[in-house]
Amino acid sequence: MGEGEEKVAGRSHGAQAVRHCHARMTPPTPKPVPYPCATIALPEIAPCPANDHEMRWGAAALPLLRVEGFVLKAQPLGDADKIVTFLTREEGKIRGVAKAARRSRRRFGSSLEPWSRVALTLFEKEAADLARVDACDLLESAYRLHENLETGCLLAYLAEVADLFAREKQAEPHYYRLLGSLLAALRGGLTRSVVLRYFEVWTLRLHGLLPDLDLCGSCGASLIRGTVVLEVSSGEVFCPRCRGGAGVSRVTLREAGRGALAEILCRPPTELGGGRIAASALAEVGRLTSAALTAFAETEFRSARFLVSAEGAVS
Ligand SMILES: [Zn+2]
Repeated sequence: MGEGEEKVAGRSHGAQAVRHCHARMTPPTPKPVPYPCATIALPEIAPCPANDHEMRWGAAALPLLRVEGFVLKAQPLGDADKIVTFLTREEGKIRGVAKAARRSRRRFGSSLEPWSRVALTLFEKEAADLARVDACDLLESAYRLHENLETGCLLAYLAEVADLFAREKQAEPHYYRLLGSLLAALRGGLTRSVVLRYFEVWTLRLHGLLPDLDLCGSCGASLIRGTVVLEVSSGEVFCPRCRGGAGVSRVTLREAGRGALAEILCRPPTELGGGRIAASALAEVGRLTSAALTAFAETEFRSARFLVSAEGAVS
């Protein structure tokens, strides 16, 4: 463990962890957390049949990597190629060049569309930023989800945030499972606003950025119950007496909002349908998560502005 990581691990207050990672713009190494709770087992995503872990490194001239992942985004590279960002189960975030993907769909078909789940074969050169995508076979398409405009907007936001938080070449099995579970929940009809807040809460939690709501950072009062006030710029949490009044950089979470947060932290997404969480409580959680994510990113997420219509359309 490096010096910087020790610093984060040694501090118990979430706010200090947030401040620390502002300084270096990479997520701190989080404490291991159960997902969502030790008592709840989410189904694993079925492994890709082609993904033989013992055969991952081939005997080719270049190291060959076979992994499974989601497509986060694909950008044009020149007239013919694309740069594709994948979130893989085995290696975290990987960026690769898909040769001739712009010129012809014959080789990659629709497998490079956002949120496709794919079986990938990549060639990686040492010290090269970009791998070369040799094969990308579609395991599960997100085409049907994209048919709905509001769901498409939500998926664009999920991809933008996941792209920022996912670590390059570092597996995050909990994060991979989270995203797989949320796509499955969307397919199963879970409300978009629940999926959105679930994703935000767990993105913060799994990267050590969800503030502890136990104690006031000023007077030390217990905040187990009642209203808490989050100072967005620092990520510190206070009781209403220490940080009274409204302010642009403060977010208030009342009892109902805290209840919604607890539900999200203790239940799989599939158990949160059917109006289990009131829209107003979910909106309170949203104010906290949006503020915390934006503070970490130090900018607005470009796709976030389209979420207004997505949430507005949710009944
Ligand atoms: Zn206080």
